[in-house]
Amino acid sequence: MHAVAPDAAAASTADRLRITEIFCSLQGEARDAGWPSVFVRLTGCPLRCTYCDTAYAFHGGQWWDIDAIVAEVARHGVRHVCVTGGEPLAQKRCIQLLRRLCDAGYVVSLETSGAIDIGEVDPRVSRVLDIKTPGSGEEGRNRWENLPLLTPHDQVKFVVCSRTDYEWARQVLHAHALHARCDVLFSPSKGELSATELADWIVADRLPVKFQLQLHKLLWNDEPGR
Ligand code: SF4
Repeated sequence: MHAVAPDAAAASTADRLRITEIFCSLQGEARDAGWPSVFVRLTGCPLRCTYCDTAYAFHGGQWWDIDAIVAEVARHGVRHVCVTGGEPLAQKRCIQLLRRLCDAGYVVSLETSGAIDIGEVDPRVSRVLDIKTPGSGEEGRNRWENLPLLTPHDQVKFVVCSRTDYEWARQVLHAHALHARCDVLFSPSKGELSATELADWIVADRLPVKFQLQLHKLLWNDEPGR
């Protein structure tokens, strides 16, 4: 399922990105959940969340020319493309890649940690922005200046690890009126918080958020490349 990297020597150094994998699967979360999608996973992340399920993307990867990435995406023949990581925005040329994918007519989403400025991202991209809870261990990395940039085309995601995290997320939701800006998603951190418990809390509080389970984890138990 994984794509093989093209000849790195052929790529022009100006337009290259470090890529861990490009593969086709079902989108497992957020608004596009359930759609066959091509995932472009960029290598590297400056964060170290306690629950990270893509630590294999922290290092390694191979250099790909942006033309070759777009060609590989086209080869899969689906409409939805998700640019993810790692933290994709940690590589500045990610902005170029996103623009190219939009120009090519794809429905493009970006999964980002919320720690890096999203202001340069093409407005055609649906930005799925994490807000890191205390349980992630990376609360201090939240770039709060990103929140006023969100539009209804975007989504905000909280991965909730505990009741303490839930109460923190609920307070952030209200303090920034996030639900008035865009869809807000709450997911339980797998193995840390029961999905049923989180669902019960959301219903009890009539919280204006969307509960979600990660489809790819239910279907394929988090296998890389699925
Ligand atoms: S931001 Fe994402 S990729 Fe980076 S450590 Fe956290 S969960 Fe992992």
